[in-house]
Amino acid sequence: MLKTVVMKFGGSSVADTDKILRVAQRVVASKKKGNHVVVVVSAPGDMTDDLLQMAEKITRLPSERELDMLLSTGEQVSIALLSMAIHSLSVDAVSLTGPQAGIHADANHTRARITKILPSKIQEELSKGKVVIVAGFQGINPNQDITTLGRGGSDLTAVALAAALRASSCEIYTDVTGVYTTDPRVALKARKLSRISYDEMLEMAGAGSQVMQARSIEVAKKFDVELQVRSTFSEEEGTWVVKEVKRMEEVVVSGIAFDKNQAKLSIVEVQDSPGVAAKIFGALAQSRINVDMIIQSAARDRANSISFTVARTDLKKAVPLLQKVSRELGAKGIVCEEKVAKVAIVGVGMRSHPGVAAQMFQTLADGKINIEMISTSEIKVACVIKESNCDRAVRLLHRSFGLDYDSKKKS
Ligand code: ASP
Ligand code: MG
Repeated sequence: MLKTVVMKFGGSSVADTDKILRVAQRVVASKKKGNHVVVVVSAPGDMTDDLLQMAEKITRLPSERELDMLLSTGEQVSIALLSMAIHSLSVDAVSLTGPQAGIHADANHTRARITKILPSKIQEELSKGKVVIVAGFQGINPNQDITTLGRGGSDLTAVALAAALRASSCEIYTDVTGVYTTDPRVALKARKLSRISYDEMLEMAGAGSQVMQARSIEVAKKFDVELQVRSTFSEEEGTWVVKEVKRMEEVVVSGIAFDKNQAKLSIVEVQDSPGVAAKIFGALAQSRINVDMIIQSAARDRANSISFTVARTDLKKAVPLLQKVSRELGAKGIVCEEKVAKVAIVGVGMRSHPGVAAQMFQTLADGKINIEMISTSEIKVACVIKESNCDRAVRLLHRSFGLDYDSKKKS
């Protein structure tokens, strides 16, 4: 039986027709090695954002069903053009929308989950010797409507298809050569990792690394799909995302992630009684505002302060809502800090090494960087700091934990 390979190309890889032709060559090369090739593509360049903006110009609150109808067109541009490009190289190919490819999703428009994949049409086309090109980020819901899988959802399509087709590999092609210890644009001495574990990759994504959609990594972990993140435009070997990294023992921190799209909100002197946090965060949840870090101060005189972070893009929605809740709860008021960033160190090695958090705090202290909030998981320590300190904090931590490429420790 032939091996099945899933190749996923992100928006920057299909941003214009020249790039689409180069992607086609790469796909054809894999096909000529004798593989069954399934390709997943994103919308070209910034098309998804452009479409979203168009919708917002028409109405502030577009119907989510129609939004999905609109956004899903971006990927359809890519699959049709890529299929034509492959034909131009005299190789047979067919483009399929998510519904045609048998990708079934739940009824949550704009952020649906994949419920099952019935890949019979894909398999039929593969058996005819065709390259199959599937539109990422979309599926069909029980109402027969097209639905999208959340931003960055083409990664999810690729990983889920690799699991459903029992593919021998799932290659994520992008505009960087792999997963780095941190963003090389911020820390020039960042290194490409040869391997990273699912858990680390998940924490990195949650802490702001943009390499892959977090949900797709969860699915890869669940179904043991080994991924390779690599560049569309070079032959260089990328980064493997796998269950366990063998060399993990010596490495305490594998990477540093950061997120500058953060804002901090506090509700000050709110009464200390059952149901208060539930009311505050219930209201935010109802307006679909994602809350990240939360701190509640120790109660004094039956009052405490609760601070939390939200995406800066949600601030406009969150402030009036919190003001209203604050009045209803009789709190003293709210405080808003618009420009904060989150910096996180991530590494499975932390599980067995004490003192990692202390080293992070000391490094920030030496750089005179104030920490406003802290949160931890088993393999991550994250701090909220002023945005203006973010790049410097990343560089200091990168050096402190031996990640600079000219440092002695190597992973
Ligand atoms: N085009 C969609 C987005 O921009 C899906 C993707 O790129 O994976 O979110
Ligand atoms: Mg995209």
